[in-house]
Amino acid sequence: MLSFEHQFATLPEPLWIACQPTPVSHPTLIVFNECLAETLGLNIAMKGKPDDATLAQWFSGNQLPPGAEPRALGYAGHQFGNFVPQLGDGRALLLGEVIDQDGMRRDVQLKGSGRTPFSRGGDGRSPLGPVLREYLVSEFMAAMGVPTTRALAAVTSGERVIRQLPEPGAVFTRVASSHIRVGTFQFAAVRRDEAALKALADHVIERHYPEAASADDPYLALLEAVAARQAVLVARWMSLGFIHGVMNTDNCSIAGETIDYGPCAFMEQFNPQKVYSSIDEGKRYAFDNQPAIAQWNLARFAETLLPLMREEGDTVVEQATDIIRRFEPLFDAEQRRLHADKLGLAADSDQAVPLMEMLKSQMHQGRMDMTATFDALTHYASTSSETHKEALLALTTQPNELATWLDKWQAAQVARQDSERLDAMRRANPVIIPRNHRIQEAIDAANEGDFAPFHSLLAVVTQPFEESAEARRLAAPATENEQVLRTFC
Ligand code: AMP
Ligand code: MG
Ligand code: MG
Repeated sequence: MLSFEHQFATLPEPLWIACQPTPVSHPTLIVFNECLAETLGLNIAMKGKPDDATLAQWFSGNQLPPGAEPRALGYAGHQFGNFVPQLGDGRALLLGEVIDQDGMRRDVQLKGSGRTPFSRGGDGRSPLGPVLREYLVSEFMAAMGVPTTRALAAVTSGERVIRQLPEPGAVFTRVASSHIRVGTFQFAAVRRDEAALKALADHVIERHYPEAASADDPYLALLEAVAARQAVLVARWMSLGFIHGVMNTDNCSIAGETIDYGPCAFMEQFNPQKVYSSIDEGKRYAFDNQPAIAQWNLARFAETLLPLMREEGDTVVEQATDIIRRFEPLFDAEQRRLHADKLGLAADSDQAVPLMEMLKSQMHQGRMDMTATFDALTHYASTSSETHKEALLALTTQPNELATWLDKWQAAQVARQDSERLDAMRRANPVIIPRNHRIQEAIDAANEGDFAPFHSLLAVVTQPFEESAEARRLAAPATENEQVLRTFC
């Protein structure tokens, strides 16, 4: 049984509003994450394990699990650079927090559970497609060790939701370190509610950054800690070709997890300016812009904290600005480490960055698939066989240039025989990512009632280093006809 706590509810309103889910007509369980449930203390192996019908009732919001107290959380946010003073959970409800096996407090949230006081014009619902996308991509991220919210359950509602066309509806259950966003701070700050702001900041320090409490200025220390986690997070995304798609400040987690998987995608052919999201017309959230956007979001976070900081005036702004500037070296250091791993070089190799820059340019010019390139390079590094070299050269339209790069790369691989380096390289370069066309294929089938492709894809993307015929089939880059160029939320 989940044992809910409600620490967020000790924070003042309007940071939250109590609100009940709206029942759906025919909830049916699609998938339930038993491994995750177990870490949350929902031991389904126990006698009295809830059956699928009960899980469908719970995770549709029709009949809440015992102890749940649903609340919609308030937040503001910069959407594509424009400030909106009130957004909030318009289709999501926090059921409560559970303390997991490691003693960590984790939120359990329903998404698509009906209208809330924050819904504005929206219907409070979610189509099935985005629910399945979030499930697949967040569980892949977790399997890769990238900080992320998790997927606990997905349920079809038995109702249609109207988007461009009517689509099947679904409810998603998400688990997060917390759902506190930069936008949550902006919500308190724009109301000039200093009591709520301080209560929120103190809650976050206690919950996520307890070491900041003993710093000279805890709020400055909080800013620094959040900046460090965002730097690591975005570097991890980029090492996998991940494009979040909607890095609005309301989708920027204070805990440093990937949150709100909307029109996100993994890049196929390498292109630094790549955008998939249908709503990102200005290319604000293009692949290579992501670190600068994260830093911009942190500056918005810093602004909300200024009234809490110890000193007045210029010095506080200067100190906060220094911390925001330090995002760049933190990001660079993490990226250098990841580059070294991806290329199978020693962690302190001074060749990691220049070799990666050259390879990026090769991937771009030679129209190479990013994931396939690093997978092939990993095979070649493990065997040095001509066959694997040929397989790698077959990925580019410019094999002569790539062969020249390979010579340079081999010269830098002084630690070639070091099995730890090879292990690190394998862990940095998955065999499979959730490719857009495969996600779309799973969604299209599910919309027709066939969940088999979703389950097959989930099985392989949650074991991203496993070689199998099915993994290889689903790992293959899209052909020209299969390519999905636009993603929707
Ligand atoms: P998102 O694009 O999912 O990050 O959401 C941005 C804002 O729009 C948040 O305040 C959401 O709660 C709200 N929102 C998105 N979709 C809906 C919907 N179908 N009904 C109500 N609110 C929504
Ligand atoms: Mg959002
Ligand atoms: Mg969202």
